[in-house]
Amino acid sequence: MGKVARVDKDVCISCGVCIDVVPSVFRFDTENLAEVYDPKGADEAAIQEAMDLCPVSCISWEEEG
Ligand code: SF4
Repeated sequence: MGKVARVDKDVCISCGVCIDVVPSVFRFDTENLAEVYDPKGADEAAIQEAMDLCPVSCISWEEEG
């Protein structure tokens, strides 16, 4: 059990901040919207930092499984 990050793509403005901060977790999809491709690619603190820096606050924690 644990929590994983998810991106609300309806809200993402493609600024790239999350990808700059944690490229091991976030990437752009084919429509240039951020997505989580490896939820365990960084520790929670790093992912939390990306969340806090997202200008539209569209990254959130979700319970795993
Ligand atoms: Fe989208 Fe937020 Fe990532 Fe910017 S920081 S690309 S708005 S999810």
